[in-house]
Amino acid sequence: MEKIKRYKAYCLDLDGTVYRGEAPVQEAAQFVSRLQEDGIEAFYVTNNASKTQDQLYEKLKRVGVQADKSRIMSSAVAAAKYIKRWYPGRTVYLIGSDGLKEALDAEGIERVEQQADIVLMGLDLQISYDKLSRACLEVQKGAVFLSTNKDLAFPSEQGFLPGNGSFTAVVSKATDVDPVFIGKPEIHMLEAIQQEWGFEKEDMVMIGDNYDTDIQAGIRFGIDTVHVNTGVTSMDAVMQKDHPATHLLENLGFWKH
Ligand SMILES: [Mg+2]
Repeated sequence: MEKIKRYKAYCLDLDGTVYRGEAPVQEAAQFVSRLQEDGIEAFYVTNNASKTQDQLYEKLKRVGVQADKSRIMSSAVAAAKYIKRWYPGRTVYLIGSDGLKEALDAEGIERVEQQADIVLMGLDLQISYDKLSRACLEVQKGAVFLSTNKDLAFPSEQGFLPGNGSFTAVVSKATDVDPVFIGKPEIHMLEAIQQEWGFEKEDMVMIGDNYDTDIQAGIRFGIDTVHVNTGVTSMDAVMQKDHPATHLLENLGFWKH
């Protein structure tokens, strides 16, 4: 067991950290329970923008984690909070699914089909040439261009399928405008947690399996990071980085307060 300092905000990645697909990572659920015994609710930080907070809450429940729903920070929730903070009262042309629609509704953000102030893109399984064209035209007319995450592909049973990053690239290439990405490795989700709950950075830690997204987000934001060897990036690969994670654990069962 590795002795690690106490934090107030434990920010856990989901896929590869708390579960793998539908399978639980047992040590993660036990870790969350141990925090709860100490009176601490974890935060859940995921680039997945297609699921609603309710759907992520139910999924966590299926893998044995009783989460505080208000502490589930998806890139959809973070995108809505980002718009509310930096562009209050502005309208959005949205490409995305239920997770994003619900997140915008929750912040009272108006969606429009044209003359939008902002174009926001997230994974949309009903993507079409018409939707992509509309996004391009709005961006050309000067709309702010936001995207939930830059993941080019995501794994499925059949193989890798195109992710939101690929469709965002279509609009970006066609308009020659770079979007602002909300998800990890950008800092916006961690910043939203800090803003909303009032934490000091030294009291926050980002925990995840993917060096290029989770650990990079923590490093860029300036908080401690914990890499777990239960998902994408191997521990050996992280050790060889110029900026490795603050702590490296085989899994969360090795975390001792
Ligand atoms: Mg992950």
